[in-house]
Amino acid sequence: MKVSVLGAGPAGSTAAYYLAQEGIDVELIDKTNFPREKPCAGGLFNPLLFEETFPHIKEFDGMDVFKVKFYCGSHTTEYTSPKPLMRTTLRRDFDSFLLNKALGAGAKFHIGQTPEGDIVINATGARFIKDYPETGICLVNDFKITGDMNTAHVHYAFGGIKGYCWLYPKRGYVSIGSGAYLPQRNIKVIYKRYLDFLRDHRIVSVGNYTYRSKIIPFAPIKRYHTDNSLIVGDAAGFVRPGSGEGIFFAMLSGKIAAQTLIEKRALSWYDKQCSVLFGKFLRPATLNWNRRLLNRVLEKAIEICCENDATFRRMLVENYFRIANHNLRWKFIRNILR
Ligand SMILES: Cc1cc2nc3c(=O)[nH]c(=O)nc-3n(C[C@H](O)[C@H](O)[C@H](O)COP(=O)(O)OP(=O)(O)OC[C@H]3O[C@@H](n4cnc5c(N)ncnc54)[C@H](O)[C@@H]3O)c2cc1C
Repeated sequence: MKVSVLGAGPAGSTAAYYLAQEGIDVELIDKTNFPREKPCAGGLFNPLLFEETFPHIKEFDGMDVFKVKFYCGSHTTEYTSPKPLMRTTLRRDFDSFLLNKALGAGAKFHIGQTPEGDIVINATGARFIKDYPETGICLVNDFKITGDMNTAHVHYAFGGIKGYCWLYPKRGYVSIGSGAYLPQRNIKVIYKRYLDFLRDHRIVSVGNYTYRSKIIPFAPIKRYHTDNSLIVGDAAGFVRPGSGEGIFFAMLSGKIAAQTLIEKRALSWYDKQCSVLFGKFLRPATLNWNRRLLNRVLEKAIEICCENDATFRRMLVENYFRIANHNLRWKFIRNILR
């Protein structure tokens, strides 16, 4: 069996790595050469779970972040965790690292070639708005800084958007971005205002207003396989709505796709595994509910944190970084909405 993996982002390179490790003939095809840029904040949420799930990433030298400050309306709350909340990466470096791992395991890399495999793994990333039941838009840039920053800033509903702005510290850089559910008309204005906010509050001053933008799927497509292909990562819409986290689900779906082929299972097995393992997280039903109440719930939540509710603060942080699986529960939410 020969497998073609289209797209060498985290989803494609992970699938190719696991396939090649089992001695399967795998070609990895991307439309561009590496290293390449990818508009992304590059945060690996819950790095310990990442390392447990994908041991080969342990060698990647990212920056662990232990401290976060949340903002919503006039409320702010800070939390320092004993365990790393997030490992920040420059996607250019992280994606090249993953590609090299796949090549080291025996995969072959081609640029822009027609796939020749019996099975194709489609890992081509997010495509068009119309391909997904729900989408968002994100603007982001990595700005070079001098000195060190170690706190992540997450600013919900900044300027009234249905989403949030962020600053993630990285080694020698900060990632600053804004993301929101579509439709969102004034996202560029919000982005600029956020940079001004960071400067005015003496958090960081970056000088120029450059950014790259990209759509982000906020709900999976209906079916993740065809007769001879498996769809992984952003191409399948595997992004966590609300946070926009997709790297973990891209790599996990790539790993499950590889497992499907290694164990010679029916391609429908892949669909089932993805649904069972993380489908619940990414379901549009949750999203629609979140969307209606998002800003109201969050503002109230941050307000409660300000009132020094330590348990709630921990839950909020752990929920954002996917550290514990206690999503804000119904009972809890009913209470705070009263
Ligand atoms: C602004 C922004 C910030 C984000 N921040 C975070 C974050 O902090 N943490 C997080 O977990 N997630 C984040 N995400 C989501 C994350 O970037 C994606 O979920 C992740 O990159 C998906 O990986 P992938 O491999 O599926 O796709 P991609 O990383 O998009 O890779 C797809 C690859 O396919 C190639 N390709 C495309 N078309 C073809 C073709 N026809 N033939 C061959 N190759 C092709 C591309 O060149 C690319 O290399 C963010 C997204 C955005 C837009």
